[in-house]
Amino acid sequence: MLPEHCSIKEKTKDCPMPPEFIISIKMKNEEYMVGVTCNGHKKTFFEKLIKLQKDGKVPNGAIQFTDLKTVGTDCIRMDPDDLIHL
Ligand SMILES: [Zn+2]
Repeated sequence: MLPEHCSIKEKTKDCPMPPEFIISIKMKNEEYMVGVTCNGHKKTFFEKLIKLQKDGKVPNGAIQFTDLKTVGTDCIRMDPDDLIHL
């Protein structure tokens, strides 16, 4: 199941916006779903992921945003709560 709102969390408050993009990290043979984001948090999410990649916490591939309207997926594989906590 896809989350009903953006995966970004500011302090203790969840972003209430509906998700607009699926964020994934693309590697040679697979795509690693990370979470979903609203349009407003796209950049924040991207910057956070770059940081997490530097720290070795997420796979080191190309970060991709896929418009939710164009895909149907249920394979979010990471728990965004652990990652995207601003
Ligand atoms: Zn958001």
